This record gives sequence, C-alpha cells and structure tokens, in this order.
Amino acid sequence: MRIEKLVIPTPFPVGPINIYLIVNDPLTLVDTGPKTEAAMAAFSAQIKQLGFRVEDIKRIILTHTHEDHCGLANWLQQASGARVYVHEWELQNLKERDKTRVDRQLLLRTGVAQEEAEHIAGHYAAVRKFADAVEDIVAYRDEHEFEFETGAWRAVHTPGHTPGSSCLWRAATRTLLAGDTILKNITPNPVLNPNPKKHSLRFAALKNYLASLEKIQALSPTLIHTAHGDVVTDFEEYVARLRRHTYERQNNVVSLVPTDGINAFALSNLLFPKVKDMTRFLAISEAIAHLDLAVAEEKLRMENRDGVDMFFRKR
Ligand SMILES: [Zn+2]
Repeated sequence: MRIEKLVIPTPFPVGPINIYLIVNDPLTLVDTGPKTEAAMAAFSAQIKQLGFRVEDIKRIILTHTHEDHCGLANWLQQASGARVYVHEWELQNLKERDKTRVDRQLLLRTGVAQEEAEHIAGHYAAVRKFADAVEDIVAYRDEHEFEFETGAWRAVHTPGHTPGSSCLWRAATRTLLAGDTILKNITPNPVLNPNPKKHSLRFAALKNYLASLEKIQALSPTLIHTAHGDVVTDFEEYVARLRRHTYERQNNVVSLVPTDGINAFALSNLLFPKVKDMTRFLAISEAIAHLDLAVAEEKLRMENRDGVDMFFRKR
C-alpha cells in the first residue's frame, strides 16, 4: 500500500511535521499539520503534486491531539467531508477547544505558585489557536482495524507522549506510522495530563510510555515513519538507547532529591534552570514523569503536603 509523506511547516520549536497520505481507497490522511496559512499552502501544494485535490480525502486519522497534528482537521473536513478519527481518550480535546489543555489543579500539585500556574496556562492558551475544534469525530480504540480496498491498518494504542497517543500498524509490511511516540533524534516529551480514567489524578506518562515501547517491540517493526525527522529502521537499538537515557535521567533525578523532600516544580528548576513559559511546562512535565516513575519503581516515596506532592528518598 503506497504511503506518501507531506512535510508541513509548524510555528513550534520542534520544526516541520511529517504527515502521511495512505494512497488507497478510501484516500486517508494520517495527521494534518497546524492551522496556519503556511501549513494550508504547503498542504494544498503537496497534495496537488501527488495528483490529488483536498476534496479527495475521505478519512483523517489523528495519532493524538497536539495542535501540529490535528490543527487542520476541521478545515480539511469542511473542504472534503472526510470522517475524522481520534483515540477515545482524546476525543474531548478536539471537541472542546475552548478548554485549555493545561490542568491548573495538576500544576498546583507539582508545587507551582498560583501566579506561575496562570502564566503557564495563559501561554498554553495561545497555542490553542493553531487548531480548530472538530464537531463530527469518530472515536477509535486499541486494535481498531482501518479497512482499505487492499488491506488494513491497525490502531495500536501507545499511551505516553499523551494518554490517547496511537500508532498505525500494517503487519504485511511490518510498517508503523508512529506519530510522536517514536522520534528519530529526540525523545518524546511525556506531557503532564490528567488520567483519562480519573481526571483528578495525573496520568503516569513515563510508565505508560515504557510499556508502549514494549508493545511496539512485540510487533518487531522494520520501518517506522515518524512525525518529526527521519524514519527509524533500527528499533531494537532505538529502544535500548531510549531506556538507557531514561534511567540515566532517573538516576540523576533520584540523586537530586534531598532527604527533607522536594516537589516537582523545584526539581524541574534543578534539571532545567533557565527555561520559561511553554518550555517550563514541559520541564515540569518531565520532572513529574520521572518522579512518578521512580515512585512506581519504589525508588522514591511520595507524600501530599498541603496540596503539593513531595518526593522523598527511600531509606
Ligand atoms: Zn505531540
């Protein structure tokens, strides 16, 4: 089954995004690019070059709901009438764009001061304009088969980067479309999110991510198309490197935890002293993800004190 890559510019530090056109019946797009004039122009030009019109798209499958991946879904649906699919855990993110994705309650629990939490949420709200809400969406689940005239692609739910992050798998060619779950030269950020099953709790991003890598490993993919950067062909090596990197950072995190305890915000300042705004949010996300993993692996213990989660070394 032919796959074509379109490279769409984004206003984000990550750089351009790769989105994929599965050239078969129904003509299917995997991810869309952000809602910017430049992205629309790039999309229109590239789809034309491939011999199609925007109106020809029949189905849009989203790997997750970050703006660079879902931003043009509404625009494309309006133009083509395509059905839009997203994992059930992120359906609401796309339907209700007026809600900011940064959960203030979860932020306050990491030890961020109220004012700083508002500041971060404000910055994130500015990112929302890069995606329109989609009203008519279909939710998919793990193992959903997307049927085509000459075969199928299967959804593989790979929570981690976000709770609903998913890949698409074609067994016949051992090919994976990985979204942001696997990126060639950078590690995907485990972003702070509420637990989809219980919104007052944090989603255990890193623990889920490591499990998702194992799930992908069990498929033995030979070719992985990523959303940013080059393809990955040496997945075993990739996973080994990523795991090594994760546990190096975990050792560092654990060593930075003083005997009288620390919260995730303070720890993010030790790990990444100079970052601000969006990057500060990602730094906090990274810190809390590592702390939670260390607690799950019984290397640290956690105690909530006055609404803030404090982390302590185990004796
Ligand atoms: Zn993403």
